[in-house]
Amino acid sequence: MINVAVNGYGTIGKRVADAIVQQPDMKLIGVSKTRPNHEAITAVEKKYPLYVVKESKKSFLKAGIKIEGTVKEMLDGADIVVDATPSGVGIKNYELYKKLGIPTIVQGGESKDAVESSFNARANFESSIGKSLVRVVSCNSTGLARLLTPIEEVYGIEQVRATLVRRGADPGQPGGGPINDVILDPVHLPSHHGPDVKSVLPGINIDTLALKVPTTLMHIHVVNITLKGDAEKAGMCELLSGESRIHMVAAEEEIKGIAGLKELALDLGRPRGDLWENCVWEESVSVDNKEMYLFQAIHQEADVVPENIDAIRAMVKECGREESMELTDRTMGMGLGR
Ligand code: NAD
Repeated sequence: MINVAVNGYGTIGKRVADAIVQQPDMKLIGVSKTRPNHEAITAVEKKYPLYVVKESKKSFLKAGIKIEGTVKEMLDGADIVVDATPSGVGIKNYELYKKLGIPTIVQGGESKDAVESSFNARANFESSIGKSLVRVVSCNSTGLARLLTPIEEVYGIEQVRATLVRRGADPGQPGGGPINDVILDPVHLPSHHGPDVKSVLPGINIDTLALKVPTTLMHIHVVNITLKGDAEKAGMCELLSGESRIHMVAAEEEIKGIAGLKELALDLGRPRGDLWENCVWEESVSVDNKEMYLFQAIHQEADVVPENIDAIRAMVKECGREESMELTDRTMGMGLGR
């Protein structure tokens, strides 16, 4: 069993913790929080051992929330730590993990230049084998890497141009925005997302632009790829359908946007309405010899969760990509009913 600690039990951390307890080869030894909010209460309800940063011990005791100890004490029993604290905090925390000799996974908010290896299971699982500081790339980069890897393998990619229509905030972030705007984020081109994708797919030429819009549900990617080899729509759709972490949205599903996808996830009883898969609209896949276009939707809170599970195995267990992805997919219940 791999003993895993999750430091930072927020949007990503709580989902990763739930996925860890589903794994036959992993044990969740603790989760940590800084504030005694509703997520702390849920962690206790789920019987996850709850640890806190030293300074906030008093506030938890005052709120009557049972804690097991401090983050430092949680780390004592860990074979690996998944740090899901806010951007910039994870890499600061690494000083402690390093001192204790604990292999560490940080999230996409940390800089790609601060880690030994960036990770996406489908694109570069092997690069993180045996590493001690690995970063699971952001939700957008995860979505693009999953899409581009099989296309590069079969057809070869000359150039990718992707426009990322990003959700303004997560549902649990009432202070986020915009409320009544479409923000060019950033105004200058290209955005940082392209170089981030290259941290797991270094050979791909990719330019990205990004906008922020008033929704909390999901991101949408408008993707144009110039292929090296000729392709046809049927072959492309067959290739993408064969990927366990891509759901091809069929015309018969009558889903025209992200609200429909969330409804599907909720109807299927997905925890928190999570969509771990890229959702690619089959009808949008347009292929004209070497030029192709498509729309895909990415659930920002969810797609990196299976990737964290695979990163744990790559770093600690040194098992193969297919073995790990198959186990993660089976235990989490990947696949949206087709
Ligand atoms: P979040 O704010 O929802 O959760 C962070 C949690 O960490 C909170 O529970 C907070 O109380 C806790 N925390 C803060 N400082 C801490 C500390 N010093 N020690 C322990 N816990 C601490 O953040 P999030 O959205 O889950 O983002 C976490 C990371 O994941 C970031 O790097 C982010 O860029 C990345 N990420 C976020 C998303 C997303 O859409 N939310 C998607 C992919 C990747």
